[in-house]
Amino acid sequence: MKKIWVSKSLAFTVLSAAILSGCASNTASSNGKLNVVTSFYPMYEFTKQVAGDHANVIALIPPGAEPHDWEPSAKDMKQLKDANVFVYNGIVEGWAEQSLKSAENKNRVVVEASKGIELMEGLPEEEHQADPKKEAHADKILDPHVWLTPVLAQQEVEAIVVGLTQADPAHKEDYRKNADAYIGKLKALDDSFKTGLKNVKHKEFVTQHAAFGYLAKEYGLKQVPIAGLSPEEEPAPDKMAEIIKFAKDNKVQTIFFETLVDPKVASTIAKEVGAKTAVLNPIEGLTDDDKKKNLDYIGVMTNNLEALKKALNE
Ligand SMILES: [Zn+2]
Repeated sequence: MKKIWVSKSLAFTVLSAAILSGCASNTASSNGKLNVVTSFYPMYEFTKQVAGDHANVIALIPPGAEPHDWEPSAKDMKQLKDANVFVYNGIVEGWAEQSLKSAENKNRVVVEASKGIELMEGLPEEEHQADPKKEAHADKILDPHVWLTPVLAQQEVEAIVVGLTQADPAHKEDYRKNADAYIGKLKALDDSFKTGLKNVKHKEFVTQHAAFGYLAKEYGLKQVPIAGLSPEEEPAPDKMAEIIKFAKDNKVQTIFFETLVDPKVASTIAKEVGAKTAVLNPIEGLTDDDKKKNLDYIGVMTNNLEALKKALNE
């Protein structure tokens, strides 16, 4: 990590190291701050909260884009290569591993924020189930959606503290202090979820894709997803029928859809069941509308809590 070219001898040392490692540059920005590249919105938000004023933080995945099927452009690859720190969740960013290799930079600190968290197994995607040849060796898929509980979000924040501190030890205390302040807010959010969902009338909620497994587990609810761990798949007709039956049997009054995915399937199911639709946001990116309303991670999660309370008390 070299943020400031203090002296000729330091410059020489750093240059030598760069040549030895075969790596041309890892320069901090002109304002002397760390350049931190993150993948999608929650990673950006958590990183901003920890970094405070000490870093330029950008998100590669723009507002309104769905991260499960996003791919980096040449410009993104350049930013990835030049980053002092790269923060990603893990698994959602299927492109990350290969891209980090292609945009090699030995001085870059890489933070896979979900790494220390024990991930749950998800069901194989629809396509695996529908294709008997694939089913034979369909691997269990790990569920990446840990950012959707305030409890696991705290662990991701801790992983980011480690990464930023490694890249920029001079500001270690600030990173710790910023993280503690944000973790305090995440704890308060967790308390409102615990209190708000404790005595709800129903425990089952139908979602557009299987993003809320950790949240359901944390607060004693049951998620019934229309699509699998990734939202692009259209469910098979028998799966649709199964969800409609489930919703009718359990008197589900609300079918949840997402802000970044076409709500067509959710609407069809809602119509069949005679239920209404509402947003439950997996926070895989903010929309322009979210930004206009100044919504951030905690704001969207608070809206999610209100939506769940309403739906589960009907
Ligand atoms: Zn997802």
